[in-house]
Amino acid sequence: NTPLHELDPEVAAAVDAELHRQQSTLEMIASENFAPVAVMEAQGTVLTNKYAEGYPGRRYYGGCEHVDVTEQIAIDRLKELFGAEYANVQPHSGASANQAALFALAQPGDTILGLDLAHGGHLTHGMRLNFSGKQFDVIAYHVDTATGLVDMAELEKLAKEHRPKVIIAGWSAYPRQLDFAEFRRIADEVGAYLWVDMAHFAGLVAAGLHPNPVEHADVVTSTTHKTLGGPRGGIILARKEFAKKLNSSVFPGFQGGPLEHVIAAKAVSFKVAASEEFKERQRRTVEGAKILAERLTAADAREAGVDVLSGGTDVHLILVDLRASELDGQQAEDRLHEVGITVNRNAVPNDPRPPMVTSGLRIGTPALATRGFTAEDFTEVADVIAEALKPSYDVEALKARVRALADKHPLYPGLGK
Ligand code: PLP
Repeated sequence: NTPLHELDPEVAAAVDAELHRQQSTLEMIASENFAPVAVMEAQGTVLTNKYAEGYPGRRYYGGCEHVDVTEQIAIDRLKELFGAEYANVQPHSGASANQAALFALAQPGDTILGLDLAHGGHLTHGMRLNFSGKQFDVIAYHVDTATGLVDMAELEKLAKEHRPKVIIAGWSAYPRQLDFAEFRRIADEVGAYLWVDMAHFAGLVAAGLHPNPVEHADVVTSTTHKTLGGPRGGIILARKEFAKKLNSSVFPGFQGGPLEHVIAAKAVSFKVAASEEFKERQRRTVEGAKILAERLTAADAREAGVDVLSGGTDVHLILVDLRASELDGQQAEDRLHEVGITVNRNAVPNDPRPPMVTSGLRIGTPALATRGFTAEDFTEVADVIAEALKPSYDVEALKARVRALADKHPLYPGLGK
């Protein structure tokens, strides 16, 4: 029973340093969030010791009576949260959920239609080096470069021409809402399944701030650690008719023993996601992103060559377009890192620069909203970012403003003491 700090000081020191990094900087990577202490507590329990291949009530191991309880709670809460007929809480990650979903709907060699990675899609939606790109015949649809919006006319044309088995709707870097009803209409017209990957915007859906894809799709996948604010992991939702196929695709198709400690933590996070406090937090998340978009399209930002793709946002992130700036994506990411703000560089559609450099930034508000940031705080953050992206900037002054914001909203105040 030796505590971590005594048993393994090297690992403990790195964990402490990471806690300090999270506490002292402003986390604006759009796919990140801060899990509640209760979620991390559930994840750090003895449930990590248990093998439980199978599903609640039908396991291949003895002694599953307690993990059956936590897994069933997670399933029931998740179905309730999104109004789904079926839920699977076992996927270890978003990519695992997507792999299981795709193989339940299609066979290797079948045609799938997904949003191009360079236009905001995810690796698992057909990227060349991913399982999806290696094992399926991938056709990519795009955003219209003039509007920054998904080109639904192109999608329909490609669907009619290639008659895919599956159409994938969902994104990792896109600042607007998708028209799920229109995706459904096109899928029906060509006899395709509709799979929605709501990993990024699931929290907004749970809060009623975004259309619910469960009402339109055959299968919906998600991560649990982005806007949803839970532990790192994946989930699958679907109509009842897909239950058997999806269950067997996850286990024994791709996974062995489920991570029951993570599943318990997912259950806790679904309880949180059903609360009024969570809705209020998601409202501040979207409000913060809108404030950022407004500030980074103001006259002085444009003068510095900064712009925002699609002119704004409906969700928790913005995509900054630096094609007219003297900074590339890498330099802009480094500038913000220097003042204490963490973001990631991101390709813009038809980016003239290589993927490791890019001409854009993806900036998200979920983690700061969880930290308690208000509209006033987001206005200050947006101003710091706008100043940092100008040709000349005062590093020390901006660092001090970031520190003041971090101090105003302490993160995990009881931890690391
Ligand atoms: N789907 C989308 C849309 C994502 O953005 C991501 C992660 O960035 C994933 C799936 C994969 O999730 P994970 O990193 O948990 O495998």
